[in-house]
Amino acid sequence: MRKIRLLRLPMAVFLFVLILLIPVQLMVENPMLLLERFIPGAGWFEIILIALYGAIVAYKMQDPSKVQLWRRYTWLAFSILFFSQLILGLFGFEKFLMTGKLHLPVPMMILAGPIYRGHLSVMSILFVSTLVLSGPAWCSHLCYFGAIDSISSTGKTRRLPIRNKWALKSTVLLLVIAGAIVLRWMKVPALTATLLAIGFGVIGLGLILLVSRKEGRMVHCTAYCPIGTIVNLTHFVNPFRLTIDQNSCTDCMACTSKCKYDALNRTDIAARKPGLTCTLCGDCLSSCHAGSLQYRFPGLSTRSARNLYLLITISLHAATMALARI
Ligand code: SF4
Ligand code: SF4
Ligand code: SF4
Repeated sequence: MRKIRLLRLPMAVFLFVLILLIPVQLMVENPMLLLERFIPGAGWFEIILIALYGAIVAYKMQDPSKVQLWRRYTWLAFSILFFSQLILGLFGFEKFLMTGKLHLPVPMMILAGPIYRGHLSVMSILFVSTLVLSGPAWCSHLCYFGAIDSISSTGKTRRLPIRNKWALKSTVLLLVIAGAIVLRWMKVPALTATLLAIGFGVIGLGLILLVSRKEGRMVHCTAYCPIGTIVNLTHFVNPFRLTIDQNSCTDCMACTSKCKYDALNRTDIAARKPGLTCTLCGDCLSSCHAGSLQYRFPGLSTRSARNLYLLITISLHAATMALARI
């Protein structure tokens, strides 16, 4: 009976990935699935493969103690796939590109790009859709850049909160918005704007390699990236939450060192609520001896809320794996 129960979520993910990808294969004129571009008809095989991948990840991640490992490596695999296709595309293998219209793979461009150009991009629309469907999962499963911060911060996590985090985050966000408006208003050439964006990305990479690695937590994502700040501030658009149970939590602080997003500090635990930088990644769940960390969704039990969250997030991750290209 338990075995059958464990298969429910993987099967649901398998079906949901099919539901997401079959219309893409049937309706989009230019093949979006990579294999279809090389061998007509092979896109169907790719859909089955990706759905199976989603099912396996779901099967493993049902166990809270396996979430951290599986999330880290599947997220990294997503990032490697994304960047290797970009590099192959840049070297002239056009089939690895989506539109071939290059944009900088720096998340900040999701915000600054549309402001500078005056119209939305495919990436911005994709970003907003995932915000609505899965809340902050963009910053724990879907962003090609965040996976690098995640890998860099695998060391021992510093327990003290990141100092002046919100002052830094808000300043960077406002500077990016203001900078993009000024560049547009002054009709600054695209090349100059691109160079500025590259500079922003290089500073981010520096933070990842030097600070996140030293601190053992994702300093780039929690204190610098403006898209992460938007994800934090708009968490209310999605009903999923992580809560700390009022009665069972013993303030032992064991969960603090599991959170790479600086969302389980002493003040957060005292308030019985993870900080705004929580991405619902689920890494902390297994660290709590009292089972106090729980997913919530209106009208559902904590178990069903978590399963629903895994269903949506893993399916989106798998589907994006098949589609995310530049
Ligand atoms: S904070 Fe920025 S870089 Fe990090 S995962 Fe989110 S969007 Fe990506
Ligand atoms: S509080 Fe838990 S779920 Fe939220 S970001 Fe930290 S580890 Fe992930
Ligand atoms: S590990 Fe559990 S009991 Fe300990 S502080 Fe965190 S939520 Fe509370």
